[in-house]
This record gives sequence, structure tokens and C-alpha cells, in this order.
Amino acid sequence: MSGPLDLPADEKLRLTASDPSRDLRYQLWLGSGCFVLMLCGLLIALYALSIDQGLRQSLDHSATQSSRALQLQLSLVELRRRAEQALLENVRADEDIARAAAAVKDQATRLTISAHPTAGDESRQALGAAVDDSVRLYTRLADNAAIGRIEQDRLADTWRAQNAGYAAAADTALRDLLAALHLAIAGETARAADVTSFARQVLVAMALLTALLGLLFGVLAARAAAAHRLLFGRLDAMAHTDGLTTVMNRRGLDEQLPIEVARAERLGYPFTVVMIDLDHFKRYNDRRGHGAGDVLLRGAAQAWRTQLRPTDVLARYGGEEFTLVLPACDAEQAAQLVDRLRPLTPEMQTFSAGIALRQPGETADLVLQRADAALLAAKRGGRNRSVIAGAELQIALPLRVVN
Ligand code: GH3
Ligand code: MG
Ligand code: MG
Repeated sequence: MSGPLDLPADEKLRLTASDPSRDLRYQLWLGSGCFVLMLCGLLIALYALSIDQGLRQSLDHSATQSSRALQLQLSLVELRRRAEQALLENVRADEDIARAAAAVKDQATRLTISAHPTAGDESRQALGAAVDDSVRLYTRLADNAAIGRIEQDRLADTWRAQNAGYAAAADTALRDLLAALHLAIAGETARAADVTSFARQVLVAMALLTALLGLLFGVLAARAAAAHRLLFGRLDAMAHTDGLTTVMNRRGLDEQLPIEVARAERLGYPFTVVMIDLDHFKRYNDRRGHGAGDVLLRGAAQAWRTQLRPTDVLARYGGEEFTLVLPACDAEQAAQLVDRLRPLTPEMQTFSAGIALRQPGETADLVLQRADAALLAAKRGGRNRSVIAGAELQIALPLRVVN
């Protein structure tokens, strides 16, 4: 039976190929990378949202400004109409005219883009100057107004003719102002579109990178899980293995024996337990040293193992004592097996053996106790022999001279 420590070659390879602590380190790095990427993605998304919001505000603003531009145009028309009417009717309407002119200039001042407050400043000034010129012309003509109807018409014609230049200048200024505002809005829109498109590309790249890192993380996690399973398997094997001889240890035997007994009970086959104890091993140690004693213990276990069936169990019970668990084997067959083991023991070392065939209903502890008692009988009978429990009188002949 092979020792629990003998891992298959490919498992050993897998264990060394994937170092769990190194994988864990990588996982930590990958996890941190994913976190940082997601944080960056969040910041970029927030930035793009703020740009979008700014763009929306700017569009709202431009809609407002369009209606203000219309209002301004109406105010300009109103200003001209009032001046012309006042001159035609020969009525002084200085206050009305001044109020209408102030309204035009005030509306021009409010016709701005918040992100570009200075855009169209020149056109605004030109518009103001044209309005002022027009008002000045009205005042000059109104001061000289004559009462007569013909004179009234002439004054209005004069004003209309002279004011046409100012009116054209005002129209041009208004057009320029609107064009400047339009340009500013267009620039703003283009910039927002650029930022949004850049943010979208960066977000897609980051999402892909995050997915890739996540995938790597998953692969490493799966690898680490496999390595841990392997390590735990190995740890479990080590917990049930004797370090010196690499056969099953006492803990393994204590767990395995009741299982084997239960199986034998259920399937109804004979079941034998053998206790083996090296003879005068203390003397061997004293003569050859403990190192040599260890070598012998290891060599004996290795040699005996070669004679066992895969279902047999060889365990180191403690010190220089071993236990054989032999399912589907009666006492005579066990005795024959033990006799085959004797010449395989290194250094001509002899041992005594107690053999117990399990009786129906007997527990693991009881059958072990009877094997131990038979071993004691073998020792008392002169060592280097096997004794079958219940047949203590039939002591096997010594096969070797006790050294
Ligand atoms: P007996 O024939 O009555 O069994 O005599 P013994 O000397 O074998 O028995 P005893 O119980 O007096 O001594 C057992 C010796 O086994 C004592 C110890 O030095 C030796 N021993 C136990 N475990 C180990 C081990 O792991 N390595 C070595 N080298 N010796 C061991
Ligand atoms: Mg002993
Ligand atoms: Mg002994």
C-alpha cells in the first residue's frame, strides 16, 4: 500500500507551479487595480455628466437669449416708431424716446452668454452708439420743430432719411452680436461634445480593462482554490502519516480500523489484525546508535509494504511496534504473510507478532487488544515468533536466531 505522502507527480507539479501566497498577492494587486479603475471611471462619468449638465444649461441659456434678441429687435422698432410718430405729430416725446433707447441698451447688455460674458462686446457698444446717435438726431430735429403740417412731414422725412444710417448700423450691430453669441455657443457645444466622446471612449476602455482584470482575478482565485485544496489534501495526508517510515501513523490507524471492521462486519469476510514488535530493539539502538535504529525502522516498513495487497494497511503503532490490518484474510493466511515479512526485515532483525482473527460482533479495540495479548505471548514464548490469539499454545517456531 502506498504512503499517503506519495502525491501523484502531476499534483506535485501543480503545487509547485502555483504558489498560493504569490497568487494571493497578485489577486490583491488585481483587486486594487479594479478598484482604482472603477474609481477613475466613476470620476470620469461624473465629469462627463457635469459637462452634459453645463451643455444643457448653456442651451437653455441660448434659448432665453434668442427670445431676448427678438425682444431687443422689437424694442429697436418701437424706438424708431415712437420717434417718427412724435416728429410727425409734432409732439415732444423725449422721455418715451429716452426710455425706449434705455430699454434697447439694457436688453443688449443682458444679451450675453454666461460662459463668454465678453463675447459680442464690440457689437453691443456699436448698437448702443447707433441708438444714441438716433436719439440725438431726434432731439436735434425736435428742438427745431415748426408747427406747420408740411414742416412736420419734412422733419419726419429728414429724420427718417438721416436715421436710416443709424438704424442700419444698429441692425448690423445686432446681427454681429447674435453671430458672436452663436459662435460662443457653438464652441461650447463642440467642446462638450469632444469631452463627452473622450469620456465615453475612456469609459469603454476602462470597462474592458476592468473586465479583463476581473477575469484574471477569477482565474487566479480558481487557481488559488485548487492549490489550497491540494495543500489541505496534503496536510490531511501528513496528519495521518508517520514521518519516519511514511506508513500510516497511530491517528490514521485509530480512524481507519473501525471503518475496516464495520466493512468486514457488513460484507461478512474474515478480518485479521496483527501486532508486530521488533525484538530487543533497545539493544540494537544501544549497539548501533539511534540513527541506525531509525534506518532499520524505515527499511523494515518499506520492505514489508511490498508484500501487502492494496486493501491491506500497515501502520506504525508507536516506537518499534507496527500493526497490520488485513481485510478478507484469516489467521492462518496472516501468519503466512507475517512469515514472508520476517526475512525482508533488514539487518537480520527479528520481531514477534500477535495475530487476532476478528470474532463476529467484535469491536476494533477488542480485536486489537487480543492481538496485543498474543504479541505478549510471543514475547514470553521466546520472541522471533508469531502467536495466533486463541491458539497461544501453537507457538510458531523461531525463524531466526535472536541477535
Ligand atoms: P522487546 O523485545 O521486549 O520488545 O525489547 P525492546 O528492546 O524492543 O523493547 P523496549 O520497549 O524495551 O524498547 C523499545 C525500544 O525501541 C526503545 C527505543 O530505543 C526504541 N525505539 C522506539 N522508537 C524508536 C525510534 O523512533 N527510533 C529508534 N531508533 N528507536 C526507537
Ligand atoms: Mg515495544
Ligand atoms: Mg521491542
